[in-house]
Amino acid sequence: MLRLILANPRGFCAGVYMAIDVVDQLLDICPGETIYVYHEIVHNRHVVDRFRRRGVIFVEDVAAVPDGSIVVFSAHGVSPAVRELARSKNLTSIDATCPLVTKVHAEAIRYARKGFQILLIGHHDHQEVIGTRGEAPDAIQVVDSIETIPTLRIHDPDKLVYLTQTTLSLDDADRIIKALKAAFPNIKDPPASDICYATTNRQTAVRAIAPECDLVLVVGSRNSSNSVRLTEIAENCGTRARLIDDKSELDPEWFEGVGTVLVTAGASAPEDLVHDLIEHIVHTYGAEVEQHDVEREEVEFGLPGTLKELMRSRGVEPATRRIVREDTGELLHQWFEQHSIPFRTVDMTLRGKALKQQHGHA
Ligand code: SF4
Repeated sequence: MLRLILANPRGFCAGVYMAIDVVDQLLDICPGETIYVYHEIVHNRHVVDRFRRRGVIFVEDVAAVPDGSIVVFSAHGVSPAVRELARSKNLTSIDATCPLVTKVHAEAIRYARKGFQILLIGHHDHQEVIGTRGEAPDAIQVVDSIETIPTLRIHDPDKLVYLTQTTLSLDDADRIIKALKAAFPNIKDPPASDICYATTNRQTAVRAIAPECDLVLVVGSRNSSNSVRLTEIAENCGTRARLIDDKSELDPEWFEGVGTVLVTAGASAPEDLVHDLIEHIVHTYGAEVEQHDVEREEVEFGLPGTLKELMRSRGVEPATRRIVREDTGELLHQWFEQHSIPFRTVDMTLRGKALKQQHGHA
């Protein structure tokens, strides 16, 4: 019988829960008004389509938002130029940027003011990197690979700092940071790692479990950086991995000769899609299911101040969070109990700690 392992943590992170909550609450506070969202609120096709069906309009240019409307900035953050354009159009801007992205923006501003050149490790075309770079475009150069290093224009190698995109592969980032330190021995580290807790934990879970599996299924969209990284990390462990938006993309051929399959999900992938996938695999292959707990997450973010201000201005008492972190293990326990399917959890937190120590994240 197939062995099905579920990685924990997987799926929504604190920033994604918060950003989704913002749009969900706006739809209630502003009935009859169109809510515009600059860029996909989070990089997941299902999340975006579900909001589209509720009337939300996603734009890739704030210029396309009618003057005086409400616009939400996505979890990935925006540059000052985007904020300025929104102001000039008299838009009510609601900022759903993840606080951990805002932290990187703040670091970029601080180092640029001190006259540092900033090497931002990340993917050129990713929304988060575009937003962070916009904070200090003259001071920031993007480093997307080791090959970029010889092309950098450095004025003073003693006044250099590196920052990173929050959703990078820990392994790739380590390699680039080592190469930067070899090229510029006096380059400064950021005050703390910019790769966020959710990226670190989801990648650590895959690194801990994938080596004992024959197939890894990552639920997530192709434009989700952290979902793509999970797939790459599984493959770097020597295990075949597939990134799927949902169970409809499964190919039965993938399961031929497979004894153990790992299911995980990127930070923007809804848990109900994971449940559907598990249910399908269990019914099709009669799998035995276990969840491996590599880390227990407690992080929660409050609603942004800009949303609370809007609520007050409309005479609505600033609400608390409505969409909050789900206990993935507890929900699954209930589901498996209802369906009389045996389900067990395995504590792998010590293994997770050891792997995180290797990257200085423990
Ligand atoms: S992946 Fe990390 S940085 Fe991105 S929204 Fe989630 S917690 Fe924030």
